[in-house]
Amino acid sequence: MLDTAIIGAGPAGLAAAHALKERGLPYTHLERNSGVGGLWDIEAPGSPMYESAHFISSKTMSGFPSFPMPDDYPDYPSYKQILSYLRAFAAENGLDQRIEFDTAVEKVDKIEGGYRVTRANGVTSDHAHVIVAPGVQWIPNVIDLPGRYTGEVRHTVTYRSAKELEGRRVLVIGAGNSGADIACDAARSADRAVISLRRGYHFIPKHVFGKPADVFADEGPTMPMWLEQRVFGVLLRILNGDPTRLGLPKPDHKVFETHPLMNTQLLHHLGHGDVTARPAIKDIEGTVVTFADGSTEDVDLILLATGYHHAVPFAQELMGEGPHPDLYLTAFSRNEGLYGLGFVETNGAAYVLMEQLATMIAQHIEDREKRPDRWQQFERVIATDTPDLTRGIRFVDSTRHAGYVDGVAITKYLHRTAKRMGWTIP
Ligand SMILES: Cc1cc2nc3c(=O)[nH]c(=O)nc-3n(C[C@H](O)[C@H](O)[C@H](O)COP(=O)(O)OP(=O)(O)OC[C@H]3O[C@@H](n4cnc5c(N)ncnc54)[C@H](O)[C@@H]3O)c2cc1C
Repeated sequence: MLDTAIIGAGPAGLAAAHALKERGLPYTHLERNSGVGGLWDIEAPGSPMYESAHFISSKTMSGFPSFPMPDDYPDYPSYKQILSYLRAFAAENGLDQRIEFDTAVEKVDKIEGGYRVTRANGVTSDHAHVIVAPGVQWIPNVIDLPGRYTGEVRHTVTYRSAKELEGRRVLVIGAGNSGADIACDAARSADRAVISLRRGYHFIPKHVFGKPADVFADEGPTMPMWLEQRVFGVLLRILNGDPTRLGLPKPDHKVFETHPLMNTQLLHHLGHGDVTARPAIKDIEGTVVTFADGSTEDVDLILLATGYHHAVPFAQELMGEGPHPDLYLTAFSRNEGLYGLGFVETNGAAYVLMEQLATMIAQHIEDREKRPDRWQQFERVIATDTPDLTRGIRFVDSTRHAGYVDGVAITKYLHRTAKRMGWTIP
């Protein structure tokens, strides 16, 4: 039988192992850390996790379909709860005993009939298939700052706890979900807290009329995207008011055209003056930062919440050189026998998609031996199909949003594809 190597034992790698194991397909599972859980293990060297982190999608919408999150979890579980949920998923399905821990993969090479996987200790193994699931939030995107800054500057990948901010004058650059969370930590712990944003965002409250925002959206009527954008735009305006009144820039795009910024606390802290919003940085001299509007701040710590590179250093030439791996439906490489999981950039909950995609990959692998015609048929689909998975949303033109897909559109398309191929997915 044709063996598969799975690289990574975060949620994506676990979903892959579960799908292969359920079908009795042989696999080898490699993980560089000493336990499962991926970036949710705050102790894992290089993890971007920090103590105040919580899920931004709700427990109701976010668990693996085959293993819902516990009922006694709060709407938005903490990083500790997500880690224990993932460990419970691995234990329940007997996945952890089969993982080679403390085993980093250094290289994946194409060989006749498959791939050669080389571990950091030099040991190699050959596999017909490889599922690459190393995560996308480990390699920081460190930007150059203008001018000459003499204070401390670091990327938020190294940030762990609000204690690090006590007694400091802190500037957070970037307002993604991590940047917004860390600016809130600074609002409570630092002597001075400032956040610099290049563009305005639509802040989506975590609860809308007492329900998690994703549950609220899911239960609502299905509308054409233009109408949904209008309705949610008005709703956010009613709930949040005018963001410019808090010093935030006016969004230059419609709702849903950027990755959702799920944060109510930042608005709260801005409204209380515990954090100050500034535009992009123009120049720095010593510890004095000048912003695009001419305002200045004297700060001794700059935290770059400027995102991550979606690189796969051990298999870059196989995954493509673009800003994101070149994968059909975010999972199927045009290189036969190569797959990626965890690369989907979407406004939906990732774990549902991970389990759906993992199940599709497993069925495609199963087809190779049992139904070669169907294997060939799907290989042709991988090579030629280029679906539009935006649902009409014009995602902003940025590296983060290159290849971004709408959660509803991709889920629908996965179901259609599975049906066409005679596969089942959760
Ligand atoms: C603060 C925060 C909040 C988030 N909130 C949500 C949310 O609400 N909902 C949601 O769906 N997602 C959320 N995410 C996204 C998050 O990326 C996913 O939850 C998830 O952890 C990604 O899973 P993964 O398995 O793809 O990657 P990871 O969790 O990063 O796991 C990858 C694994 O691969 C291993 N690995 C990497 N390279 C190698 C190698 N060379 N050899 C061997 N092993 C290797 C790593 O050690 C790691 O264990 C959030 C992320 C952050 C940082």
